[in-house]
Amino acid sequence: MVVGDVTTGTDVLVIGAGPAGYVAAIRAGQLDLDVTLVEKDAYGGTCLNYGCIPSKAMITATNVAHEAKNAEEMGIHAEPAIDLAGMVGWKDEVVSQLTGGVEKLCKANGVSLMEGTATFADENTVRISHDGEGQGSESVSFEHAIVATGSRPIQIPGFDFADDPVLSSRQALSLENVPDSLVLVGAGYIGMELASVFAKLGTDVTVVEMLDDVLPGYDDDLTRPVKQRAEELGIDFHFGYAASEWKDIGDGIRVVAEPAEAVASDGGSEAVEAESIELDTEKVLIAVGRQPVTESLDLEEAGVETDDRGFIQTDDRARSNVEHVFAVGDVAGEPMLAHKGSYEGQVAAEVIAGEPSAIDYQAMPAVVFTDPEIATVGMSEDEAEEAGFSPLVGKFPFRASGRALTTGHADGFVKIVADEESEFVLGASVVGPEASELLGELGLAVELGATLEDVAGTIHAHPTLSESVMEAAENALGHAIHTLNR
Ligand code: FAD
Repeated sequence: MVVGDVTTGTDVLVIGAGPAGYVAAIRAGQLDLDVTLVEKDAYGGTCLNYGCIPSKAMITATNVAHEAKNAEEMGIHAEPAIDLAGMVGWKDEVVSQLTGGVEKLCKANGVSLMEGTATFADENTVRISHDGEGQGSESVSFEHAIVATGSRPIQIPGFDFADDPVLSSRQALSLENVPDSLVLVGAGYIGMELASVFAKLGTDVTVVEMLDDVLPGYDDDLTRPVKQRAEELGIDFHFGYAASEWKDIGDGIRVVAEPAEAVASDGGSEAVEAESIELDTEKVLIAVGRQPVTESLDLEEAGVETDDRGFIQTDDRARSNVEHVFAVGDVAGEPMLAHKGSYEGQVAAEVIAGEPSAIDYQAMPAVVFTDPEIATVGMSEDEAEEAGFSPLVGKFPFRASGRALTTGHADGFVKIVADEESEFVLGASVVGPEASELLGELGLAVELGATLEDVAGTIHAHPTLSESVMEAAENALGHAIHTLNR
């Protein structure tokens, strides 16, 4: 069918069906707005198809194999055989269940779905082009637009994702065979999550990172157990190097990395090592960050401005510089996390519906699904100090938790930060088993303005990891039972 120059109209046009866009569309549907969601690739966006969900499925599957193989202490002796095609097939099943669910939920909430690529024609019209021969394009006019076009992995000079041995995170999550060796460029959260996946699959993993440590932006006490576990898994690190090129060496490739200026912990800079290095490997995975998808949208036709990195600047109601055009999710800036996009998407829909919603990032969580996991919410101790609070800190180590010991994972701790005077919980961080799940309670404490006493006085079931949250709050108050109080 050739789609001609038909123009349809909608109150709210959402561009991009990732966790920011589809959530915005569903919320707009719930608020009885006439909403159209346009997607050019796959419902669920990066998160469901190539990011959060596939990576967590692979992390879980490789953890199962790794745990079984390393459970001698528990009296279990096993040597699991890994069938990567089977593992990837299971991951794809999970993805397809979820993406099918997104489509159904959109329809059930009255969202009209369109497949195609949207570009702005003017400030109230987009052009939707459809893939495929003779499919043409059509126009949609709108009262309000919500741009939720997400982000893509950054490519670095010398490494083209179109070349077979060069992988993006998306390609790495769909490999058919386990590579014997892998050079992973970038020790941010995506790089470190994938490093442990491949190490647990038996790949010889080497990480090259420009800065001087893993997981830039996270406190040292949180990253230390992750780096230590990575080294135990056999992962090698080269800090202070930037990968510059690769060459074919017949039975693999050689990745060259040049010394880079690494940011020293005192804020100055120093050259960490002087000579360039050459690393022979089967594959190279580039995970150096992501950039917003804005340049292909013809935003200038609608008068929407971006900053010099391509992000759409928004206010606390998710509005761009153009009153009726909103931007949510990765395209609207850091932190590029799915739940941040979904939250902004809901706010944008509610603002369009005339509700008094506004964005408040105070209790924004962040999780790194490494081994062990890291999870943070609210302010760190340093941030609390910078904000003028006198922080009161409580800590509880998992080695003192009965439940942690029974899981075989007792590395790490729960740390809670409160205001000394009012004892309001300002933030928390966890490194250790199920940190991602333990964070929920701590986020609620920050959001509700709970005090240390509220958390400490809540009866926590025994034996659970969540008792560690209660004990961290008790420790801040000076009366933890299962650890010594300062
Ligand atoms: P996206 O999910 O990127 O969706 C944007 C959608 O817009 C895409 O489907 C795209 O096809 C569509 N689109 C783009 N341009 C157009 C156009 N012109 N017309 C129509 N459609 C268009 N985040 C977490 O919170 N937790 C995690 O554990 C986590 N793990 C991750 C692991 C990996 C390997 C990666 C790569 C990312 C991970 N993320 C994680 C980040 C998360 O995936 C993103 O923050 C999230 O997907 C952003 O959502 P979004 O809706 O803004 O954009």
